[in-house]
Amino acid sequence: MSAKPHKITFPDGRSVPALGQGTWHMGESHAAAPAEVRALQAGIDLGMTLVDTAEMYADGGSEQVVGEAVRGRRDGVFLVSKVLPSNASRRGTIAACEASLKRLGTERIDLYLLHWRGRHPLADTVSAFEELKAAGKIAAWGVSNFDVDDMEELLSVEGGGNVAANQVLYNPARRGVEFDLLPWSARRGIATMAYSPLDEGRLVRHPALLRIAGSHGATAAQVALAFVLARDHVIAIPKSSSPERVAENRKAADLVLPPEDIAALDAAFPPPKRKAPLAMI
Ligand code: NDP
Repeated sequence: MSAKPHKITFPDGRSVPALGQGTWHMGESHAAAPAEVRALQAGIDLGMTLVDTAEMYADGGSEQVVGEAVRGRRDGVFLVSKVLPSNASRRGTIAACEASLKRLGTERIDLYLLHWRGRHPLADTVSAFEELKAAGKIAAWGVSNFDVDDMEELLSVEGGGNVAANQVLYNPARRGVEFDLLPWSARRGIATMAYSPLDEGRLVRHPALLRIAGSHGATAAQVALAFVLARDHVIAIPKSSSPERVAENRKAADLVLPPEDIAALDAAFPPPKRKAPLAMI
């Protein structure tokens, strides 16, 4: 294995590896939890120290798995969690964060996101985020599933300019954000977190990716991740419950795709020519 995954720097100056780990569907079964903990720890050992979870995943079960995985090594990990829109009132956000902290077994979440837009005014959620930050319960905050118009509205709210990241669907088969959201965010130093970078696993069998992978002795998953990681200011958070597949994904950070591969990817997955509504899962 070569150097550590390259880093992304947040507006507050903190850096994180561009290749992290997702945890959706973890914590859904007691029987699977020990293997999930081992997979996350394997990734952390390999430098994939950003771990993404949410109060929604397995109704808090994913946060418990993450808490178990980081016990005794919390300082070396960058924890991301999310508040559900239905909880994102001023008081609800604070209560949800405190419940997440308990499940995670930690005193601080490094980056706390609004999972998607809901009925509560952005101003209330932002004001709760700022209060949590002042109390040291979160170090930074961001959003998820926000398109450019949502981001512009967010920036118009008091304190909204402190947004550190936006987590959105992005992978070779879902390139809509390249049209405007990715450059818009990169210009402002707002990190983009690419969720479902393997399109929920579908890309690992895609013929175009398999063809490119073959010429590098790599795998289709590694090509998909390398494609995402090549973008400016983008973090990829693939999920795997297998230490072997986590190690495979880690190697994507060392894979640089030459121009002919990028051209082949553009032919198989044409880049967007016009604005389309933000895709989400
Ligand atoms: P991914 O694109 O990360 O794909 C995960 C699937 O791919 C799993 O079935 C996994 O199976 C499989 N997989 C992983 N690595 C490999 C590999 N090397 N070879 C073959 N199969 C592989 O999908 P997710 O939807 O999980 O997205 C990643 C993370 O993004 C989530 O876990 C979550 O943290 C976040 N997310 C956020 C959303 C939001 O609204 N903010 C929405 C969706 C996701 P296995 O575990 O068996 O390896």
